[in-house]
Amino acid sequence: MINFVQQEIENDLKAGKYTSGIRTRFPPEPNGYLHIGHAKSVCLNFGLANFNGGLCNLRFDDTNPTKEDVEYVDSIQEDIRWLGFDWADRKFFASDYFGRLYEYAVELIRRGLAYVDDLSAEEIKAYRGTLTEPGKESPCRNRSVEENLDLFAKMKAGEFADGEKVLRAKIDMASPNMNMRDPVIYRITRATHHRTGDDWLIYPMYDFAHPLSDAIENITHSVCTLEFEDHRPFYDWLLDALDFDVNSRPRQIEFARLDLTNTITSKRKLRQLVEEKHVRGWDDPRMPTLSGLRRRGFTPAAIRDFCERIGVAKSNSLVDVAMLESCVREDLNNNADRIMAVLDPLKVVLTNVDENSVEYLPAENHPTRGGSRYVPFTREIFIEREDFMEDAPKKFFRLKPGGEVRLKHAYIIKCDEVIKDAAGKVTELHCTIDKTSKSGGETANRKVKGTIHWVSAKFALKAEVRLYDYLLTTDEKGNLPEDFIGALNPNSLIVIDNALVEPSVRWTAAGTHYQFLRLGYFVVDPDTTPEHLVFNRVVGLKDTWAKISK
Ligand code: ATP
Ligand code: MG
Repeated sequence: MINFVQQEIENDLKAGKYTSGIRTRFPPEPNGYLHIGHAKSVCLNFGLANFNGGLCNLRFDDTNPTKEDVEYVDSIQEDIRWLGFDWADRKFFASDYFGRLYEYAVELIRRGLAYVDDLSAEEIKAYRGTLTEPGKESPCRNRSVEENLDLFAKMKAGEFADGEKVLRAKIDMASPNMNMRDPVIYRITRATHHRTGDDWLIYPMYDFAHPLSDAIENITHSVCTLEFEDHRPFYDWLLDALDFDVNSRPRQIEFARLDLTNTITSKRKLRQLVEEKHVRGWDDPRMPTLSGLRRRGFTPAAIRDFCERIGVAKSNSLVDVAMLESCVREDLNNNADRIMAVLDPLKVVLTNVDENSVEYLPAENHPTRGGSRYVPFTREIFIEREDFMEDAPKKFFRLKPGGEVRLKHAYIIKCDEVIKDAAGKVTELHCTIDKTSKSGGETANRKVKGTIHWVSAKFALKAEVRLYDYLLTTDEKGNLPEDFIGALNPNSLIVIDNALVEPSVRWTAAGTHYQFLRLGYFVVDPDTTPEHLVFNRVVGLKDTWAKISK
């Protein structure tokens, strides 16, 4: 783990800070499902802790009761575990600290560093000034400590309406950093919280709750995305104001968020896709959520590998989604068994094979991992329609009238006759096999230019195969358009319901990966049953990324 955050940690350790060990945290807000961008943060935070022999906490930043839900709390834990990380007994909630956070706010008031303000939200905004003009002080700014303590207690007790009063830190209305112009730290919200119910009528703001939650948990390095850089002065101000020791208290370090071509990484937009039913749910295989990627057949190892390869930088950049696809392709190339499936079947009758003959031919499962199975070979088989061409150009090395091709794991066949329907569509081919051309036979090594996949008509299983494309159409650079609903790709899901797969996979379980020879990598969808197999295409075989990067 060589990145600039690790470098900072090493500098701190050399300077004699954090003598009781490194502690990081992953702090999701439970208002949506985790996506690939979060995976970067999960891998970084847990990775830094592991690398330094420290610990990483899971902390739900649940300070906004109106948007949060237990459904999200549960899915987030499932996704982090699936990615391969473990917080052991260190699952925390910012809401666990509501009592202590309140006490800290009271302490700020006592120290003359916070005040209750009567200005409305609009007034506060108007008083804030701009980047070029200083803000204006609220008439309530110089209330006495006693009055502030009394009003804050009354805010907590429910004596004011929502929005009627707020608690603000008293810092500097002329600060060039807008976040330091007396930020609001507590607001009144009558909303039922998913954990504390109706216990609280006032809730801490994220900028107040986050540094203090970090400090309460003895976090040493609070790693977050770049947009929080301007919030760091307040993070430090708050810990200073409350006398947290500089040598042991948490420090915030910002890194570049992950943005991917063709990919939405805004929770708000992802929620909109789900709520407006543009996708089947949070786990739709087209979604960049971890549950979507899982269902799509991406593996935890591939995602971790991706997060390692993209590295951690200090400036934002756009990563090509082809790189993520390349990582899963590499993992599945190493680990997925090969089988034969036909997506667009064309019937072939092998006229010199007996009607009732069934021959079981051995087929290797994987070129390096080995293993094998038998595939049944019969008089009638199906091949891929596009593997036959009637008026084939010279370079077409698959099947054509009078031509020969090898059936994978089986015989060389020759196309003798093409059968068509009234409309001229090819409905069937009549072919003959070279009986000595199978493995071990006299002409086993006879060379023909092409090898194609096939399945036995009698034994093949029907399958539904779902092919996916990007959810959105983008410009050439992969940038997302502003109106993303308008850019939804109408062909992002194509369902093939009459595909055929070899019988060896009848009892396969959801989540099992295969390479369908010559077609790509596929995973068994949770919708599957032995009577109705359902596969999702993970990625095709061609690696565009590997080519670009060479
Ligand atoms: P919100 O707008 O709801 O805050 P968020 O994407 O920041 O959305 P959080 O639940 O706050 O969601 O994120 C948890 C952690 O994941 C944060 O530390 C955040 O910085 C990090 N994170 C979120 N999106 C990305 C991303 N695209 N790349 C890297 N880290 C991210
Ligand atoms: Mg956030």
